[in-house]
Order: sequence, then structure tokens, then C-alpha cells
Amino acid sequence: MDSVSEKKETISKNFIEMIIDKDIAEERCDTVITRFPPEPNGYLHIGHAKSILLNSGLAKKYNGKWNLRFDDTNPMKERTEFVQSIQNDVEWLTGQKMDNVFYASNYFDTMYEAAVKLIKKGKAFVCDLNADEMRQYRGTLTEPGKNSPYRDRSVEENLKLFEEMKDGKYPDGSKVLRAKIDMSSPNINMRDPIIYRVARMHHHNTGDKWCVYPMYDFAHPIEDAIEGITHSICTLEFEDHRPLYDWVLKELEYVNPPKQIEFAKLYLTNVITGKRYIKKLVEDGIVDGWDDPRLVSIAALRRRGFTPESLRMFMELCGVSKAQSSVDYGMLEYCIREDLKLKRSRVMAVLDPIKLVITNYPEGQIEYLEVTNNQENEELGMRKIPFGRELYIDREDFMIEPPKKYFRLYPGNEVRLMNAYFVKCEEYITDETGKVVEVRCTYDPETKCGTGFTGRKVKGTIHWVEATTAKKATVRLYENIVDEEKGVYNEDGSLNLNPNSLQVLEECYVEPSLADAKAYDSFQFVRQGYFCVDAKDSREDALVFNRIVSLKSSYKPV
Ligand code: ATP
Ligand code: MG
Repeated sequence: MDSVSEKKETISKNFIEMIIDKDIAEERCDTVITRFPPEPNGYLHIGHAKSILLNSGLAKKYNGKWNLRFDDTNPMKERTEFVQSIQNDVEWLTGQKMDNVFYASNYFDTMYEAAVKLIKKGKAFVCDLNADEMRQYRGTLTEPGKNSPYRDRSVEENLKLFEEMKDGKYPDGSKVLRAKIDMSSPNINMRDPIIYRVARMHHHNTGDKWCVYPMYDFAHPIEDAIEGITHSICTLEFEDHRPLYDWVLKELEYVNPPKQIEFAKLYLTNVITGKRYIKKLVEDGIVDGWDDPRLVSIAALRRRGFTPESLRMFMELCGVSKAQSSVDYGMLEYCIREDLKLKRSRVMAVLDPIKLVITNYPEGQIEYLEVTNNQENEELGMRKIPFGRELYIDREDFMIEPPKKYFRLYPGNEVRLMNAYFVKCEEYITDETGKVVEVRCTYDPETKCGTGFTGRKVKGTIHWVEATTAKKATVRLYENIVDEEKGVYNEDGSLNLNPNSLQVLEECYVEPSLADAKAYDSFQFVRQGYFCVDAKDSREDALVFNRIVSLKSSYKPV
């Protein structure tokens, strides 16, 4: 490696990679094992995508491993339904079939044993304070807490009580097991935190086997240690929990314990990610589910037409840091445009049709024109598109009285029909309201595209589809679901909804080459943007397309 690229590589390393490099150099670890630990209590969103790509990316970079671990220690909010959707999303995003799938609940026995071990070491005790009393004893940020009156129970008594808790002898909430650390610690997490509670809840994996469940701060380091995780990467809100994470590992005497590293969550400006808000949008019928293409759950992004590659590019651009910041949605749009630019066919679709009739073209004749699928990428090959006497063009490509610099169709003007011939507008027909319903043109057979015609030039090129062979389709255009101009939230905390976030165009026409487009297939509709076949609503005989993104952007990556 030459010195320039060497330098570039060091500069582009993020702070987590620098920590890992140091750990390897100083022989604290010889491999890298990370994990993505979702709680199966909802759908994954773009923030989780960042964590997934970070963890899987590190494993790849260091030739290590990464696990998908369901952090299912709290049966209250968890549902099996989410387990499957999470695994699907993870596999789609990483392009990897997950064989390293673990469940924290499979470690309940080990966790119970670990709690017993702490009791035996005099590092944990059963406490009978109720929730209110517990709060009073805890102290505040400025005042130390007080020791629980149950703190000095003997090891034997604690062992007996804890076993009885497990055996269902005590009602829910009546007793807890607490770590014995320090009630005067300036870090409230260290003030004898609860590590086990009694709760009679049915668990999706362990059924009714347990009526005691471990708390997150106790369970998580054990899960990591069992799996041999070297670097346990989480978001900043856990920074204050790290001393407890380390305490648990130290007291349980794990050798080569995992190291917790925190990074800043991904936030998108003016984009709703909070579960509470999304749930309400779903319940109020404003969106058609967690995967509504206006949302940023992974399922929604996929349905909208985002690709894993575009999300990976986006995360690369965002970088990883400890500084909280918010990223513009425009950057996500930039990434999907960049990704699809060379990969997708550029086809013709008319979203707001008016009929165009070529009066000097033989009636009933259809000819097939050979066109390139993507001018910038020859590998995508060619296709044939029909041309005939009756076409559809987009309403905005015709004007009766055009302003200056309007180079499209107007009475007396000549334009190129993309991939086809020059046509000249001879007349137009309006209905009783004055709306244009038909444009009548003549064409010049000499001007066929690709024949080397060097005669006169035209300034405008417009797209079209042949009317008798075109497929009718529905097209959905999207805007942000909230009104950014007025601010996302109203004074009462409700969302300021954008009434135009979904526009449904029922009468669109696409080239017949799209007739067998399948769910998630995407295309560039020339001059209009990128569109994706909707996975929920599209049918073979009634295609539905979602606009992923328009072609133009004001966003420039730095
Ligand atoms: P939410 O409440 O938004 O669903 P969460 O943190 O409760 O998020 P978990 O299932 O507990 O969801 O998260 C799994 C992993 O994803 C955790 O490691 C968490 O830190 C990470 N994560 C969650 N949100 C983000 C985000 N916005 N950016 C980066 N990582 C995130
Ligand atoms: Mg959560």
C-alpha cells in the first residue's frame, strides 16, 4: 500500500475501529465478535439499520462474526410476530442469511445461576421495599440514597428467598433481587439496582417456566459474555449504564469480558421515527400499516423501493460518532438515486395523460422501435417499444399559450418524441370546460431516431406511450407525512400532518414492457423519477407504482 492510500485509510476509520485496532494491538482480543440485539417489540426502523450495518460491517472488516440476538427478557411487550419481521429485515439489509440467531431467553438458566453466584458472594440481596419506598430510598441526582433495611440479610436467607421467588411463592412486585453496590454513588444506576423481579407473564419462548425475570442491565452483559462478544456496541443513552455493565461482568468473574462502546443514534430531520407516533398514525388509518411507504421502518423503505445498497451508502455518508446530530432526508434520496442510476432501466410512463394523434400515420399500424434500456450502462441491453398513430403524452408537455423558453409541444411547434420521430402540433381539441383532451400532430418519417437524420433540429424532447398497447397503472406520489414548513409538532404535541403526503394518480399509462413487473421491481420513468412496484397492492392486471424519489435534488453531499 502506498503512503497516500495508507493515510486515507487511517483517516476514514471511525472511533470504534480505532478502539478495536488498539484492543487487537494490545492483545486484549484476537477476533471481533459483535451483535445486533433488538427487542422484539416492534418493527425495525432506519435507526436500527444503522446499528445493524455498523455491527455487521465491523465483523466483516475484521474477519470476525456477528450475531442477531433477540433481547427478549421482558415478556410484557414482546411478540413472536416481530421476531420474524426483524429477521427478514436484517437478512434483506445485510444480504446475509442469518445462521447466528440467538435468544436472550435461552440464557435464563445461566442468568439465574449468575444471580445465585452474586448472592453467595454477598453482592446481591432480596429486598421487600415496594416501588414507592424504593423511590424514596434511591435519593436524587444531588442527594445520595439510603441503604434498604433488607440490605444486610444473610446469604442463606437471600438464597432461600430468591429460590422461593423463582418457585412462585410471592406475588408479583412483592420482592426483588438487588445488586449490592453503593447507595451513595453519584451514578444512580449503581445505587443497588434491581436485577431480578417477580412477574407472572407468559413468555413467547419459555412459556410459563419462569415467574422471575432478569432486568436489562443485568441480563445484557451476561448475554454478551455467553456469546463471547468482544465489542458490545450500543447507543449513547447507555453510557451511564456502562459502570454497571462492567460491574456485573467483573463480579461474575468472566475472563476476557466484552467491552461496551456507545455511539450517537441516527436521527433524520423532520422525519417521524418514534413508535408512539407511528402507532397512532397506523391506528388512525392515516398510514396503511407499519410498512406504509411514507414511513422509515425498514419494511416501509423496502416497500417504497429503497435498496440495501442505498441504505449502506447512506450510513457510510452519515459516519459513526459520539456527537448527536440530525441528518437531512435529502441525503437518503441522494443515495437511492446514485444507486439506481446505472442499475435500472429507463422506461416511459405517462402520469397525467392527454391523447396525441398523428394524423399522417397509417391507421392500425404498430411499429416496434429498438431502444437502449440505460444510456449510461450498455450492459442493461435493449428492448422494443411499440409506436403507432395514437399515443399518450403528459399534460404538462403541451401548452396552448406557452411562456418564453417553453420548448415542449404547442400549436405550430415541433418536438422529438423520445426514441421515435419529430412531431409538429397542428391543432388541439378541448372539452366544454376548455380542458385539452387531444393534441393532433403530423410526423416526419425522415426523422426516426437512430437513423442518422441530420436535418433540422428541435429544442424539446418529450416522452410518450403508445395508446393501444400501454398498460394502465396507478401511481402514488409521496411527500413528507408531516408539514415541515409549519413544524413537525403542534403545541399540544400532536403531529402537524401534511394533507398532500399521498397523491394517488389512477389513470397512468406505462409501456407494455412493464406488464410483468413484480413486487419490489423498480424503474426510472424518464423525466419523472424512480418508481417501484408496490408489494402489497399491485396486481398483474392492475399495476401500482410508488414513487421512490424524483430525479431532481437540491441536496449535494459534502
Ligand atoms: P426504538 O425505541 O426506537 O425502537 P430501541 O433502542 O428501543 O429503539 P431496540 O430494539 O432496543 O430498540 O434496539 C436495538 C439496537 O438498535 C440497540 O442496540 C439500539 O441502541 C439500536 N438503535 C435503536 N435506535 C437507534 C438509532 N436511532 N440509531 C442507531 N441505533 C439505534
Ligand atoms: Mg426498545
